[in-house]
Amino acid sequence: MSQRLGTPNDHAPARVRFAPSPTGYLHLGGLRTALFNWLYARHTGGQFILRIEDTDQNRFVEDSLDNIMSSLRWLGLHWDEGPDVGGPYGPYTQSERKELYHQYAEQLVDEGYAYRCYCTGERLAEMREEQKKNKQSFGYDRRCRDLSDAEHAKMKAEGVPSVIRLKVPLDGATTFDDKIRGPITIENSQLQDAVLFKSDNMPTYHLAVVVDDHLMEITHIMRSDEWVSSTPLHKILYDAFGWAMPIVAHLPVILDPSGKGKMSKRKKVVAGKEYLALVHEFQDAGFVPSAMFNFLTNVGWNFDAEREIFSQEEAIERFDINEINSGPAALPYDKLTWITGMYIRDMSPEQLKLLLVPYLSQQIDVDEETLLNNGKLDGLIPLIQERMTTLTDADQLVDWAYLDADALSYPEPGKMIGKKLDAPTCIEILKQGGEMLSEIEPFDADTLQATFRQEAEKMSVKVGPFLTPFRVALTGKTVAPPLFESMVVLGREEVLKRIQNGLQALEAYAAQPA
Ligand code: GLU
Repeated sequence: MSQRLGTPNDHAPARVRFAPSPTGYLHLGGLRTALFNWLYARHTGGQFILRIEDTDQNRFVEDSLDNIMSSLRWLGLHWDEGPDVGGPYGPYTQSERKELYHQYAEQLVDEGYAYRCYCTGERLAEMREEQKKNKQSFGYDRRCRDLSDAEHAKMKAEGVPSVIRLKVPLDGATTFDDKIRGPITIENSQLQDAVLFKSDNMPTYHLAVVVDDHLMEITHIMRSDEWVSSTPLHKILYDAFGWAMPIVAHLPVILDPSGKGKMSKRKKVVAGKEYLALVHEFQDAGFVPSAMFNFLTNVGWNFDAEREIFSQEEAIERFDINEINSGPAALPYDKLTWITGMYIRDMSPEQLKLLLVPYLSQQIDVDEETLLNNGKLDGLIPLIQERMTTLTDADQLVDWAYLDADALSYPEPGKMIGKKLDAPTCIEILKQGGEMLSEIEPFDADTLQATFRQEAEKMSVKVGPFLTPFRVALTGKTVAPPLFESMVVLGREEVLKRIQNGLQALEAYAAQPA
């Protein structure tokens, strides 16, 4: 790859940025942009910068900044410089840098690269109407581009509000080299005299992004493909300022699972299936961040054709900006579920416990402190780990263990009757079991198992149906984690109470006239 003079090479420590606008919650596409920047910074031993581009105050969404930051932290994408942590190039929020942009806009006017425009919103609207009527393409007609000094002085004296527009060269073409797409050339006649500085004293995106990327010494601009068409304007600005443009790399579009449309920024239902879009929705749905990290790293880049699961460290080690695909990448949602299941099964019970507690405390109404410390979860996790696909699956598997014996209900006591058995037999089984359980020593899974097997044999009942009344009496469910281990988690006293309650429910059921 040939290097332009004065630009960094691909392995030198990079300074990259993620520059969201606080105009909505972070979606998966945005997270992938942040992730690739982060990976590249970590791969090269450089810096990952978070910059907030809030110059369009009309589109500001109240809690979006918190949402963006917490979504990034959820994935583990911590930034080296940013609005909250500061850094040597701050401030990192554009609205706090207004003055700076103003100076640069004035500089461009003074040097003849930009001009003041006094056209009112009304005039622009009329112009647009006219263009529409004549089937012309929309765009500013450059009326103020060639006003004389005297005319400018007059406007200034009258205090007419103005914006500053870029004076795009009228002929020739602008070329930039996209690291992913290759050289891109556009005829200048296709470009607009874009507004750089608005009458509300705020810069537009075009000016702010160029000034900040330069002043913050950004080496690589990796961003979503929707900004490709803005880049020629940026190149003209870099040239006007006499600055070298950082390397730009526009990331491939993410397609929805059908592979037809661009991925939505909102959740949508296709053929009865729900497709999430916002990062916090994936978090709420119980996807594991390390699995999401793994999944998203492979959307538009490929870790290894032979290996689906890899660690963060491995991804950092291998990540190569030159290997990012230029073609669109479809989002294989099902793979995310599969990868999450793999991560859940692979992690240590202690790790899983820490991830599960915030979900469970919401789902089963037990506070985090209790979940962390009362020991039950430590016994339950090995029983459910293999049965989970996402973190939100656990509540159904463990809720029974946290209910008070008296709160456990048996809406269908008939379910306590094992296959091919009848109510009187199962009542007898529960009674026998109760007696056995009060005596078994030690109260561990192996001893319980051996004793129950013997008893089933003695009563000439198959083991499966013999255990059904106990399973339902203990958990209220026909499908539950392994029974003897569950008994140990509950403890002898609690088990006896539940068997007693189950027995009563079954007796009442059996006493009903058929
Ligand atoms: N503020 C822009 C956005 O929210 C970022 C564009 C860029 O990275 O240059 O998409």
